[in-house]
Amino acid sequence: MNLWLRKLSPGAGRGIGISLMLVLVLVVVAPSVCLVWFMSRAAQNERLAVRQKLEDAYRVHLSLAQERLTAFYHEIGAQLDARAATNPGPVLFAKLVGEGLAESAVCFDQNGRITYPTRPEPRFEPEPPGWAEAERRELAAPEAAAAAFAGIATETADPNVAARAYQAQARCLIRAGKSDAALAVLLGPLGEQRYADAADAEGRLVVPNAELIALELLRESDSARSVQLRDKLVRRVNDYDAPMPSSQRRFLMRQLGELSNAHASFSTLAAEDLAAQVVEAQPPPIGSAGLHPSPLPGIWEWASPSGRVVLLYHTDSLAAKLRSAIAAPSLPRDATVVLVPPGSDYEKYFTTLPAGLEWPGWRIGLDLQDKSLFETAANQRIASDIWIGVLVIGAASALALLAVQLVRRQMALTRLRNDLVANVTHELKTPISSTRLLVDTLLDSPRLPQTTIREYLELIARENLRLSRLIDNFLAFSRMERNKYAFDFQAVPAKQIVDEAAAAVRERLNSPGCQFDVSAPADLPEVTADPGAMVTALVNLLENAYKYSHEEKHISLRAVSQNGHVSFLVQDNGIGLAPRDARRVFKRFYQVTPGGGGCGLGLSIVEFIVRAHHGEVKVDSQPGRGSTFTITLPQARHAERKES
Ligand code: ADP
Repeated sequence: MNLWLRKLSPGAGRGIGISLMLVLVLVVVAPSVCLVWFMSRAAQNERLAVRQKLEDAYRVHLSLAQERLTAFYHEIGAQLDARAATNPGPVLFAKLVGEGLAESAVCFDQNGRITYPTRPEPRFEPEPPGWAEAERRELAAPEAAAAAFAGIATETADPNVAARAYQAQARCLIRAGKSDAALAVLLGPLGEQRYADAADAEGRLVVPNAELIALELLRESDSARSVQLRDKLVRRVNDYDAPMPSSQRRFLMRQLGELSNAHASFSTLAAEDLAAQVVEAQPPPIGSAGLHPSPLPGIWEWASPSGRVVLLYHTDSLAAKLRSAIAAPSLPRDATVVLVPPGSDYEKYFTTLPAGLEWPGWRIGLDLQDKSLFETAANQRIASDIWIGVLVIGAASALALLAVQLVRRQMALTRLRNDLVANVTHELKTPISSTRLLVDTLLDSPRLPQTTIREYLELIARENLRLSRLIDNFLAFSRMERNKYAFDFQAVPAKQIVDEAAAAVRERLNSPGCQFDVSAPADLPEVTADPGAMVTALVNLLENAYKYSHEEKHISLRAVSQNGHVSFLVQDNGIGLAPRDARRVFKRFYQVTPGGGGCGLGLSIVEFIVRAHHGEVKVDSQPGRGSTFTITLPQARHAERKES
């Protein structure tokens, strides 16, 4: 029992309480920390999962784009081969560039020879008679030389020779300062249809070059004719049916551009230049279908399956060209499928796939304009997870708090019971041992004087009374704790309660050194009360007044009626209570000085009884001056009516 009590001593109880709290905190905190950890991992996984889901969804589009790209490749390749079979190189070149299918192109014949862009092919023909002589005289006697060339032109049957002779004649006339005569030759005989395809020794067409010279001569003197001639020459240069070597065409285009102050523009000039550069650097390999990087940096060669056409692109323009081919119609507006050239920064795309065997190094990528799209989706799911987590932690905390409260209440109850047993046992001991001592004395001393015997018997009776009060309180408390306190409410005159309480304590309080006054007007109204319980309450107050007063005791019990209530006042001139104690005395087992001759139950029983009567009890006290305990109960209903 002692061990048990020591265990439940306030210090030990607090220790157990703290460790219990610690355990419960751990029970909540540890799983919460784990939950938060799991949630952060889950958030990461959620992000990955959402990304994966989106990737899977978009991958379908990318695969479709891949298929479209392959189909596009084969379709264009077949078209190119078909067109190469039916179109001469220059015509095909002009069409492909004109249609915008490629930035430029290199065309081959079926033997793998480049048909466009072409260089002029020098002709090795025997020199006509008199040609060398005419050339020799060109510097010293240009006029004579011009006449000699004119002679050659008229005598020969070969249009090539004739055209070259007229060209030389015009050159000599210009040298001789006879521009008009030169113009007449350039635009006269050379304008005839039979010289249209005549070429010089280097393989260049004679007529366009002659017209260019004429244009230069005419430029200042005759503007109307020069415009006419310029337009004619522009048409000639743009005519890809004519067998003009591409280098001559480029030369003429440039010259015409300069002469006409950019009045003449040539849509194929850039394409001509690009094709010439590529061919010059290294002609595309014959018969290697597919996409390859060209020897020029940033230029791609896309060869048709037969290799007869090689389209040329800058990297960007190829990517742009193919964009429409791979565009996915069913994609959200802010997502685009793009073709990503080799060496690009793949990271900036949401996801990429190889573009296919036909597109070495190229990838198909998904470009999300709103990069936060998948973040938003992931965040939404994470937010709902966090809410669930918060709710779980909240619920766990609430349950833990509830558990703490329950356990604390249970512990308090256990402590209460143990305290009760300890206190009551202690309290019972004193009267029992003193009674036994008195009884033993009476039994052992047969010749005691009558007065002493009476004195002893009175003492025994008093101790007995104290014992029964103690047991009454004990039982009352026990019933109170078990909610078994049964009240028998009835309308009772307040005066009757006062009288009964006074009678119960009169004998004790009328002892020497104690003045006990009772005052209750005869017309006091009735109250609805359990008379026995109310007497118990008042007796408890009166006994306390007696216990906690000095030698000269002044105790009074009064009852007054006011405002529909009856107040019972128990006043003493005893040790009084400090304000802090006055607030606590109604708590169970509370004693200002523990072990001071009570067990700290009386006032808690008083409060319990008064509350059951819908009344209130309060104390008004000053240390060293005394206390007044007041119980106020409402009047009985019919008593109220009687009064009114
Ligand atoms: P106890 O059995 O200790 O008297 P009570 O519940 O009746 O238990 O009283 C609680 C405590 O209140 C007492 O221990 C005592 O310190 C204080 N007390 C009660 N009545 C008075 C009073 N009339 N004057 C001074 N102190 C009092």
